[in-house]
Amino acid sequence: MDLVAQVPDSVPVLIAGGGPVGLATAVELAHHGVRSLVVEPRESVSWLRPRAKTTSARSMELLRRWGLAETVRARAPLAVSWSDEAVFVTSLLGREITRIGGCFGLDLVGSDLAAEPGQQVPQPLVEEVLREAAADALRTGWEVAGLREDPDGVSVRIVSAGGEEREVRAQYVVGCDGPRSVTRAAIGARYEGRQDARPNFNIVFRAPGLAERMPHGPAVHYWVLNPAQPGLVGRLDLKETWWCIAQGVRAEDADPVRLVRNLAGADIEVEILATDPWTARMLLADRYSSERVFLAGDAAHQNPPYGGHGFNTGIGDAVNIGWKLAAVLHGWAPATLLASYETERRPIAADTIEAAAANMATLAPELADPALMGDEAAFERVRPAVAEAVLRTKDSEFHSLDLVLGYTYAGSPIVAPDAGERLPHRWPAPGESLYDRLGPDFSLLGDLSLPGAGVLVEQARELGVPLRTVDLPGEPLTLVRPDQHVAWRGDDPSGALRQALGHDR
Ligand SMILES: Cc1cc2nc3c(=O)[nH]c(=O)nc-3n(C[C@H](O)[C@H](O)[C@H](O)COP(=O)(O)OP(=O)(O)OC[C@H]3O[C@@H](n4cnc5c(N)ncnc54)[C@H](O)[C@@H]3O)c2cc1C
Repeated sequence: MDLVAQVPDSVPVLIAGGGPVGLATAVELAHHGVRSLVVEPRESVSWLRPRAKTTSARSMELLRRWGLAETVRARAPLAVSWSDEAVFVTSLLGREITRIGGCFGLDLVGSDLAAEPGQQVPQPLVEEVLREAAADALRTGWEVAGLREDPDGVSVRIVSAGGEEREVRAQYVVGCDGPRSVTRAAIGARYEGRQDARPNFNIVFRAPGLAERMPHGPAVHYWVLNPAQPGLVGRLDLKETWWCIAQGVRAEDADPVRLVRNLAGADIEVEILATDPWTARMLLADRYSSERVFLAGDAAHQNPPYGGHGFNTGIGDAVNIGWKLAAVLHGWAPATLLASYETERRPIAADTIEAAAANMATLAPELADPALMGDEAAFERVRPAVAEAVLRTKDSEFHSLDLVLGYTYAGSPIVAPDAGERLPHRWPAPGESLYDRLGPDFSLLGDLSLPGAGVLVEQARELGVPLRTVDLPGEPLTLVRPDQHVAWRGDDPSGALRQALGHDR
């Protein structure tokens, strides 16, 4: 295959990195009719490094907006109805201490709170769906080697696995190239923060017959509170494949088969498929952009996995920068709009890092108690106190809808003083989300006979902004951004759309 011929000389937006965030950025741009090029070295997704397991209710809403939520759900090995519980046990085959239900918004099926519940699904599967959706933009086997920015655009040097070099000219670049981001270095931004002292060891394994022997029933997480081998285990599918995190285990000391058997509490049959040592990091880039280069996802922030936020925060970044770049490239917003990307997204990453770090303060090793492993009487004596500690310290990890659905851009210079939150959700008709009625760009909701409606429609016409109107008789007027956040609500919309587009800044 002629690899050189696959790469265009110029493109409106070049995306460095085709992990979930880079792919989501390409899908968002395509949603607004903007062409992009995703430069990604990996030819295929990494099935043996499943990483994120939770796609949040908010990410599922965004996938629904792209028409992909159903595909992800249909392919997910664990149906959303399978379980929304985390179970705390002495071992996989041992005693149950307590359980927490309604985890990760998996119980929001049909709820007014959200257009979609969360979904347990391995990250590579989501990446596969996004790869298919972004197929026109994706070029694998290439990586970004460097970039040079000037007032009119960015020249990006890319190199193929075979050593061929090309230069691609882009109007904008989005750096979604992960923790060791070349893009971040190129714009002189730096991670700030800290890393946890404790080593962790991930294992993907096959354990035929384990599920059938377990007394605890379906659960998305099994937390093993055995002081001799604390950890966290879950199923990757309903066949024989599992993942686990052994906490406090150094790679050089790890005996993966022994670890799995200790977590199981018996010498079960086990085949190790992959191992992955890692350290939790709490890192935030000191800035998110230059004039024409923007950082998104892990290139901009990293947080511990507890609470399942990392990849989901990145999907939020992708949508925020994607619609803004599209608005500027289509000519209906000034380039000043783009400065609001960092203003809006960086504080959310900072909050997420703090929440995930707080979740990490109490893990299985802290909750484990030697008495749990004693005889029945000893176990029963200590169980209430351990269960109480679990519920007190872990509730916010499993129930964080304030962060997942409740994050707001209030205070952003491009939203009106009383606006910025995600449009409150509801079901106007069975199976039809209010969000399904929104346009891909801006939307005006409310009683369209109110005088302000005509004013906003006229503003949109003058500025050339695509505006979908949704008549909701008797309801106040609400201007909704392409990302489903409220830009303005009220009676007097003069200046509302100009503000939402970053004019006059
Ligand atoms: C062990 C582990 C468990 C995790 N668990 C969770 C979880 O439960 N929930 C959660 O939400 N998150 C979790 N995460 C985090 C989640 O995996 C990341 O937040 C997510 O992958 C970030 O996506 P991204 O696209 O920003 O970066 P990445 O997934 O790192 O993708 C970056 C991409 O850029 C490519 N790339 C690198 N260099 C270049 C270059 N020079 N040019 C072009 N491309 C380049 C890479 O090949 C890669 O495909 C976990 C992570 C780990 C390591």
